[in-house]
Amino acid sequence: MPIFDRAHTDDLLTFLAASPTPYHAVANAAARLDAAGFRQLRQTAGWEAAGPGGYYVIRGAALIAWHLPPGAPAHTGFRIVGAHTDSPNLRVKPLPDTGSAGFRQVAVELYGGPLLNSWLDRDLGLSGRLVLRGGDATLVHVDRALMRVPQLAVHLDRGVNDNGLVLDKQYHLTPVWGLGPAEEGALLEFTAKEAGVAAADVLGWDLMLHDVTPPTYLGRDQEMIAGPRMDNLVSVHAGVQALIHAAGAGTVGGAAAPIPVLAAFDHEETGSESDTGAGGPLLGNVLSRIVHSQLAGSPDDYARALAATVCMSSDMSHAVHPNYPERHEPGHRPRLNGGPALKINVNQRYATDGLGRAIWTDVCERAGIPGQYFVSKNSMPCGTTIGPITAAKLGVTTFDVGITALSMHSARELGGADDPFLLASAAAVFFGE
Ligand code: ZN
Repeated sequence: MPIFDRAHTDDLLTFLAASPTPYHAVANAAARLDAAGFRQLRQTAGWEAAGPGGYYVIRGAALIAWHLPPGAPAHTGFRIVGAHTDSPNLRVKPLPDTGSAGFRQVAVELYGGPLLNSWLDRDLGLSGRLVLRGGDATLVHVDRALMRVPQLAVHLDRGVNDNGLVLDKQYHLTPVWGLGPAEEGALLEFTAKEAGVAAADVLGWDLMLHDVTPPTYLGRDQEMIAGPRMDNLVSVHAGVQALIHAAGAGTVGGAAAPIPVLAAFDHEETGSESDTGAGGPLLGNVLSRIVHSQLAGSPDDYARALAATVCMSSDMSHAVHPNYPERHEPGHRPRLNGGPALKINVNQRYATDGLGRAIWTDVCERAGIPGQYFVSKNSMPCGTTIGPITAAKLGVTTFDVGITALSMHSARELGGADDPFLLASAAAVFFGE
């Protein structure tokens, strides 16, 4: 029997709705870790006195969490579950107040590779973080119909249903949020008020738009889920719940047990090259400090620990689309609720190799969950994720997995209702090895 059940998926829908931005996802993950007895460590503090127990570090919209078992030797290997907190969306430009033809509008920039059409004619809220004078940040979440990107009427775009929708990224995606002339400073004034702070104290911000429709079960038998940001908050949520389970269930501990680590990076959707992305030094720094500071280990201990480390990189995967089956590899047909798919690409767009496949197969067997495979058609370029980057950066054995979904990078994706808890169950077993 898998460790988790449908209650995990219920909880995921709550997590998705409460996490419109990567900053919120990290804050909500931290709150769950706090409630489970984990403690936050500052990157600027010394870690020598941090003994056994659960810890996490937050940097921007990235979070690294781990549980240090008592008596662990300094060369103990890690079991890392990797994920990312960011999702493609529309983000507010530095001077946002604009307008045209009597509408008040907000200038936006595209983050990552969103399915642009999926942002049209949706009621959009505004959320993100405000960085205040003095350096503190506060989160804001306006979760009501505030903005909308209206699509051009079919009467004014007669060919749209035959020729396809063509959107100019600069001109056709600017949301409206009122009537009247553009007012300089209005968006910041509004947002600061919503957050309960003075606009004059907001010196910087990261604001973005989200669909206000709540995530939901879908289908006659409710065997699917529809919602935003499932890529990749499903993996972040699964990793958090699995880590808490592993730390509390006593499956972690003892001299030979590995150290479970959750690495939730930002900026995967833009290529991972940032101080909080998988291409940056964050995870390596944390692992190094666990060995050198917390466990008072040597450089040799660190090299031994990495050599004994395995990373399970979890990111969303494609199920076969019923309306486009020809786009998928005919012999490998991942489906919803078939369990997480092991992702394979021999050209290292995914990090999985035969060793990783063997480790994953063993995890699935012991977790009591079904497994399946994702591989691209040879004629179709393959996506990539944080797995190969983590493998290359740290030199650790890595495999890529992910629950399957349709409409990846849509403002609202479609997945299976069982897959989130099957993934979390596998992650908990992986952590507990
Ligand atoms: Zn992803």
